[in-house]
Amino acid sequence: MPKAVTRSFLRFRCLRPWYLLVPLFAETAQAAAVGIPGAEGSPPVPEASHWLSVTVIVVLSAALAVTVLLRRREARRLTLLREKEQRLSTVLDSIEACVFIKTPDLRYTYVNRRMAEMLGRPVGEILGSRDEELFDATTAAHLNAHDRQVLEHGEKIVVDETLISRDADTPSHLLLSVRLPLHSPTGDIESLCGISTDVTEHREVLEHNHRLAFYHPLTGLPNRGLLMERLEQALREIRHRRGFGALMLIDIDKFKRINDMSSHEEGDRVLQRLAEYLGEMVRDTDTLAHIGADEFVLLVRHLDPKVEMAARHAERVGARLLEMIPSIQIEEEGVAITGSIGITLFSGRGASAGETMQQADLALEQAKRAGGNTLRFFNEEMQQMAMERVRVERDLQRALEREEFRVFYQIQVDEKGQIRGCEALLRWIHPKLGLVPPNLFIPVAEQTRLIQPIGRWVLEQTCRQLAEWSKLPTRSHLSIAVNVSAIQFRQENFVDEVRQILRTTAIDPSLLIVEVTESVLMDNPEQVRTILSELRGLGTKVALDDFGTGYSSLNYLKKLPLDRLKIDRSFVAGIPEEAADVAIAETILSLANNLGLSVIAEGVETEAQSTWLRARGCTGFQGFLFGHPVPVDELLITSQ
Ligand code: C2E
Ligand code: MG
Ligand code: MG
Repeated sequence: MPKAVTRSFLRFRCLRPWYLLVPLFAETAQAAAVGIPGAEGSPPVPEASHWLSVTVIVVLSAALAVTVLLRRREARRLTLLREKEQRLSTVLDSIEACVFIKTPDLRYTYVNRRMAEMLGRPVGEILGSRDEELFDATTAAHLNAHDRQVLEHGEKIVVDETLISRDADTPSHLLLSVRLPLHSPTGDIESLCGISTDVTEHREVLEHNHRLAFYHPLTGLPNRGLLMERLEQALREIRHRRGFGALMLIDIDKFKRINDMSSHEEGDRVLQRLAEYLGEMVRDTDTLAHIGADEFVLLVRHLDPKVEMAARHAERVGARLLEMIPSIQIEEEGVAITGSIGITLFSGRGASAGETMQQADLALEQAKRAGGNTLRFFNEEMQQMAMERVRVERDLQRALEREEFRVFYQIQVDEKGQIRGCEALLRWIHPKLGLVPPNLFIPVAEQTRLIQPIGRWVLEQTCRQLAEWSKLPTRSHLSIAVNVSAIQFRQENFVDEVRQILRTTAIDPSLLIVEVTESVLMDNPEQVRTILSELRGLGTKVALDDFGTGYSSLNYLKKLPLDRLKIDRSFVAGIPEEAADVAIAETILSLANNLGLSVIAEGVETEAQSTWLRARGCTGFQGFLFGHPVPVDELLITSQ
């Protein structure tokens, strides 16, 4: 074989199986040239044509080999491409975002698994379709607009999309979508790709949290936090224009009783109904909030710039609310539901949101005090009282240690006008306010439980006073009555405290009279009886103060170990003109007589009262007619 052919042959050996054909052609040619058997008889082939055929064969073989090579390379490239595509598709199908590709005429050419799942259709059904065939008209219009924006401007966009399917059974989805153009090698926009994350659940969680943070779980109304935000906003707004707004605090009267008498479910139902009823009366610009168990607030924004008109409007709204509340029916028959409303007007000048709320609160308190089922407006006087109360509370904490308390004494006389004893009445000498009356600070002391140490102090003072008087022949027979608050009376070691004070002062216990009001008797009758019996066991006397103002039943009274009844001064004041007061005073006197109790009338200011009482068997008198409460050294004890 000539060298060139051999070299060509070798060069194309790699083109198996085609190279096998080459030696076959070469051998046939060679045989013909050298006259080997099989070649005999053939006409001699000229050498040039021999070489020509060899060359043709070689060229053809080479061309064939190149074609085969290219095909194989193409096949390998396609395999690789398919593998890559497969891998990419596996990756895209395994992510939780929806991925799609659309043609410029907005038909889907690719969607991943998540996208098909979200649409509730097989991939094959989605490919080639447009959004109009998959979503409702509004959704499709929005999606088309977003797609066109990408295709026309060649820019990436990030948008929120709500997808509502044409198929009513497929739930709607909220997506956060990124869309971007896909370019051809020449730079033209060939298609667009979208990657959308389903944020439906995430939004739901956010919304749920938002609802929890800003709305009442029972009624779904704005809670205190949201109300305060809206109130602040209303105050800011109103500052820029003349006018008024109103804040109305609405509270169901004795709601606890409804809960106790019916059930908590019934209580909840009442609140839900109230929320509904109130909701129907509220304008769009107003805010109705549910801020506590049975506390609702109506924030009314645009009221008249004239304060009288604004107040009249607010009052009309409040009155309508009050009228509507009793229409809520409850299971328990015969129980009418009523409400109380506290209203304050605001104009954006002065009071902050917190202060405005406080004002409505104070007004509500007044409405409650007036017996409920009514409304009250906040006024400056209320504000003064509230501020005083805050100051009293703060200063009261330190009054004991600063020795600002004094015990005053008011004499008590018998039917002959002879002094039999005194009532100890607490006074607070405030460094700035001067003499603070007990009705101003005792309720605060009770609320803060400061009445316990204060009450103990009064008891110690009076017993010391009795101890001192015991040494004076002119005074040793005098008793002292001490007022004991319900909180103090029920404190666990009250009787022990009294026992200990009696022991240390070594006084005659029968000269100490413990005065309790009817409110003490209300709760837990058995406990009250035990304590009263223990006190009497110590030798002290017990008087029932302000008798006739409470509701203690006569039957109950009969069983209590009492020594004395005090006719409240409100009845004494009406003697002898007011028929009702006269009747009550007479009843108390005869009752005391029947029960074997002594009676003392408080607040006796006139001779007429004194005479009338004496004529009906009253044996004890206390009041300005005989003497005002005074410090001990101003007591005028003239006769024995
Ligand atoms: P109370 O125990 O019924 O005391 C009688 C009140 O009537 C006293 O008022 C007394 O000053 C007043 N008063 C007496 N005579 C007359 C009168 O002729 N006309 C009028 N208008 N008033 C008269 P005060 O001292 O302001 O005490 C008010 C209430 O404060 C007492 O009513 C008592 O409930 C309570 N209180 C006073 N001291 C203490 C105390 O040490 N502890 C407790 N827990 N409460 C006390
Ligand atoms: Mg008293
Ligand atoms: Mg009294």
